[in-house]
Amino acid sequence: MYYIAEVDKDKCAETNCHLCTTYCPEANCINYSEEDKSAYVSVDRCKSCEICVYICRDVAKHNAIQMKWIDNLEDRFVIKRVGVVQR
Ligand code: SF4
Ligand code: SF4
Repeated sequence: MYYIAEVDKDKCAETNCHLCTTYCPEANCINYSEEDKSAYVSVDRCKSCEICVYICRDVAKHNAIQMKWIDNLEDRFVIKRVGVVQR
């Protein structure tokens, strides 16, 4: 397996910036949850390119995304899509 982008929801929720969601090259991979007030990554769609990490850390200056080994993800089995939350 491989590394997946993971959003620190608390850090992200402080900003409401949405910036990363416009740069991920994969469709419906990183989206914004109005319910959680943070971005989230659909684990099954992330291709580990790290563009979102660069955007959040170096462009938005929020440093709310890091790459994590898939086995170490906090929400390893949580896959959310627009309008649907599966827990
Ligand atoms: S760029 Fe960072 S702070 Fe902005 S929505 Fe994405 S994860 Fe949240
Ligand atoms: S690492 Fe790449 S594919 Fe994965 S969420 Fe970030 S921008 Fe999208």
